[in-house]
Amino acid sequence: MSKACPLVGRMTVDVHYASMKAAFEAGAEALRVALEKTGEVTNGDVLTDTRAVVPDDLWVFDPRPRKEGPGAKKPSPGKWVDDPELANKPFDAERCNCRKWNAGHGAQCNRFAEDDGLCTLHKNQYDKIIALGGRDLPHGRFNEERPTHELSKPEGEGAEHKWSDMKAEKAAKKESEKAEKAAKKDSEKAEKDKARELKKEKREAEKAEKKKKKAEEKAEKKAKKAAEKAAKKAEELELAKKEAEVAEKAVEEVAVVEEVKAVLDETTKKVEEMEETNGEELALDLGEETEEMPEEKFGIFEHDGESLKWNKETNEILDPDDEELLGRVAQVDGEWKFNKVERDSDSDSDSDSDSDSDSDSDEE
Ligand SMILES: [Zn+2]
Repeated sequence: MSKACPLVGRMTVDVHYASMKAAFEAGAEALRVALEKTGEVTNGDVLTDTRAVVPDDLWVFDPRPRKEGPGAKKPSPGKWVDDPELANKPFDAERCNCRKWNAGHGAQCNRFAEDDGLCTLHKNQYDKIIALGGRDLPHGRFNEERPTHELSKPEGEGAEHKWSDMKAEKAAKKESEKAEKAAKKDSEKAEKDKARELKKEKREAEKAEKKKKKAEEKAEKKAKKAAEKAAKKAEELELAKKEAEVAEKAVEEVAVVEEVKAVLDETTKKVEEMEETNGEELALDLGEETEEMPEEKFGIFEHDGESLKWNKETNEILDPDDEELLGRVAQVDGEWKFNKVERDSDSDSDSDSDSDSDSDSDEE
């Protein structure tokens, strides 16, 4: 067989690997066919599906030395290492479309697709699952919708897949629900507080109203009482007034009686006196009465253009300045006549005085 490559295209790592794999499978298949022919293998034996026996690391068939020293074993492409970043890689149609768990992040299988878009490993797994009544690989296909439950079990029997982002989502949801609950609680509390405040205000208003009403009632009662008291007082006053009037009337009556009695007494006394006394005594009494009368003692007597002092009791005419006796006056034919005083001679003043008193009494 010629060593010159009859093919076109670049010889990449993938092409190189795929060719090794194909050669392995072809060898395994040839062996199976040969053994079947001899009757040494039957259906159900390991070699029924030669693809299942392809080793993970086909690089062992490459004669070149390993990079890390002679014989150093490098992880094969089939060797899986969980990495959250793998979940974000775009779908690669060259590779197995099985979705791996990848610690809850999910990722496409890194083996090359062989049959039905699956690597030999997952194709084998798939066939077994179907045989046992399952529907698909447990986590579905990377180019299909992510399942919520295990697809490897019959419908309704698969356990739930707790994908990591769902966990985060769930946690976020839980957090948000918690926050919502707290907000609701706060709002309810605020509402409750408000209601309580309103109730308190209402109660206080009612209290104030009651107090006001009571005060008003009290004031009304007080006013009524005062009015009653005033009315009673007025009544009493009226009664007192009436009594006073009665008393006054009685007093007046008494006074009248007493007055009458006094007058009567006086009259009786006078009558008795009159009976007892004669005319002279009566005259003397009257004269004495005249003397007692507060008549002006001095007057003015005009004589020769001079104003002289006139003692009306004695009818003596005096100098108004030094009260020197200048003369006497006597009534002659209804007129007062001046008589100059004669030194060292007695005048009959008594008789004059008597006549004067007589005229006075007559006038009364
Ligand atoms: Zn696979």
